[in-house]
Amino acid sequence: MRKFKTESKKLLDLMINSIYTNREIFLRELISNASDAVDKLYFKSLTDDAVVIDRSELAIEVSFDKEARTITVSDNGIGMTADELEKFLGTIAHSGSEQFKGDPEVAASTEADIIGQFGVGFYSSFMVAKSVRVVSRAYGSDEASCWSSNGIEGYTISPAERATHGTDVIMTLKDSTEEEDYDAYLSEWGLKDLIRRYSNYVRYPIKMTVTKR
Ligand code: ADP
Ligand code: MG
Repeated sequence: MRKFKTESKKLLDLMINSIYTNREIFLRELISNASDAVDKLYFKSLTDDAVVIDRSELAIEVSFDKEARTITVSDNGIGMTADELEKFLGTIAHSGSEQFKGDPEVAASTEADIIGQFGVGFYSSFMVAKSVRVVSRAYGSDEASCWSSNGIEGYTISPAERATHGTDVIMTLKDSTEEEDYDAYLSEWGLKDLIRRYSNYVRYPIKMTVTKR
C-alpha cells in the first residue's frame, strides 16, 4: 500500500465526505480524461510515424453491471505505465482546475472555490464509488497495470492484463442510503442522461454497452 500525498488526501476527504454535493459530475470527469487520452494518442500519431492508428476506431465506452454494482469507463487512448499510474493518480494534477474555474455554472458556488483550488478530476469518482480500479496499458507497451484504491489511506499498483492499449476505470459504487441513491447510476437511462447533459461536446463516439443477464 502506497500512501496518498497530503494534498491528495485533502481532496479525497472532500470528495468522500461529499462537502461537494454535485456528485453526478464524476462521469463527465472520467469521460473528459478518456477523451484527453484519446487526443494524446491521436496527436502522437500525427507527429510520430511509428504510431499508426485507425482514427475511426478511437472511442470511449461506458458500461455498467447492476449486480456487481460497477460502472466502467474505457478508452483506447494512450494509456498509462505503472510509473504513470503512480505519478498521475497518486498526486493531484492541476490542469483541470483552470478549466473548472471557467465553468459559469459552478463558478458561483463556494464549494466550487474549495474544489477549484485543488481541481476536480479523477478523484471525483470517489464521490460515488467506494473503490476504484484503473487498469491501463500504455501505447507501445505489452504490459498492463492496475491501480486500486478505496480513496482513504492509499492505493496499490499491481500487474494486470489488458488486450490492447488504453484504460478502464472501474468504479464499485457506494451503497445507496435514504439520502443518496447511487443505484440510479446503474441504468442505461441514468448514464445516458449524464452523458447527454455533461459530455455532449466530446469529439469521440461514446458507446454504451448494456450487459443483459
Ligand atoms: P487532469 O485531467 O486535470 O489532468 P485528473 O485528475 O482528471 O486531472 O487526471 C489526472 C491525470 O491522470 C491526467 O492528467 C492524466 O495524465 C491521467 N489520466 C487520468 N485518466 C486517464 C486515462 N483514461 N488515460 C490516460 N491517462 C489518464
Ligand atoms: Mg481530468
